[in-house]
Amino acid sequence: MTTPSDEVRFRSALDDVQAYKPGKPPVRTDGRPTYKLSSNENPYPPLPGVLEAATAAAASMNRYPDNGSVALLEALSARFGVPTEHIAVGTGSVAVLFHLLQAACEAGDEVVYAWRSFEAYPIATKLSGATPVEVPLTADARHDFKAMAAAITDRTRVVLVCTPNNPTGPAVRTNELLEFLDAVPRNVLVVVDEAYREFMRGEDLVDGVEVYRDRPNVAVLRTFSKAYGLAGFRVGFAIGHEPTVAAIRKCALPFGVSHVAQAAAVASLEAEKDLLERVETLVAERTRVVDALRGQGWDVPEAQGNFVWLSLGDDTLAFATAVDAEGVSVRPFPGDGVRVTIGEPEANDAFLAVTASWRR
Ligand code: PMP
Repeated sequence: MTTPSDEVRFRSALDDVQAYKPGKPPVRTDGRPTYKLSSNENPYPPLPGVLEAATAAAASMNRYPDNGSVALLEALSARFGVPTEHIAVGTGSVAVLFHLLQAACEAGDEVVYAWRSFEAYPIATKLSGATPVEVPLTADARHDFKAMAAAITDRTRVVLVCTPNNPTGPAVRTNELLEFLDAVPRNVLVVVDEAYREFMRGEDLVDGVEVYRDRPNVAVLRTFSKAYGLAGFRVGFAIGHEPTVAAIRKCALPFGVSHVAQAAAVASLEAEKDLLERVETLVAERTRVVDALRGQGWDVPEAQGNFVWLSLGDDTLAFATAVDAEGVSVRPFPGDGVRVTIGEPEANDAFLAVTASWRR
């Protein structure tokens, strides 16, 4: 006779889920400088005005924050020229993504995205109950939109498009995305994840906020973590049409965005000019790093984020260990490649010293 198990049970969907693994900090015991290039963070400290706004907000930490994030929604609405009903905020854009997939999917549904891409996509998809449908990138590390369109079935609820693609770097062209959208059924939500948009340079690159305006099945994800340098405060947002935003808000955790984070985000929008100047410096560093790597003989795909991708295959872990030994932590994807964040010039130089002597 079988007896009921006395073990606590969890959803079987979790059996196949790996907890998110963040980039590691650098380790060094000889006292020389270390550089963390493993999490696509902004190397600059907060601007004084942003810090002041956050500190002032912290004085009321005995109170819950504004659950409606009204001041932040109004600031974002003015910044992007969209109604507040078209914006949902969360504790980082990753939280907004989780809420969105939870809102859109149930068991048996499918979520299509390019692979390799952001590590949170398979996790968020499986937690929503849906099945990931991963479409390999092209040889030059770009989205293969023909193959992605072909992967859509009547179970597809959401397509995720990451531009620039983390961790490989290329950005999606506007005509590529528009052509793809024409091929996608209107009841499939296309989420354009633009976490690194402010670092993009060039003509004809997608601006999701423009694309979404006359397309009810498009939503855009943006974040304060990268260009705005607020990774530690956890503020991200989606811009989409009212039904999408209302669905995200239903899934959101109560009081998810602290008032310190809301105040820092509003202050960052006010200080946007200064912050975007810093982005310009990082973009110039990115150009310097990519040119140097190519000069050393590395094959580097288009880099439109605050990071570069080195395809190293089976040498990935050995390379990560070699950079680690120089006090620089990078993000290895075993068997595939290494993603390296663009940091301050000294950090980039420390990294380039290793690539210069690496046998290829
Ligand atoms: N999307 C992409 C493509 C990312 O790389 C990241 C962060 N690594 C995020 C979303 C989430 O960023 P956050 O939660 O800090 O807003």
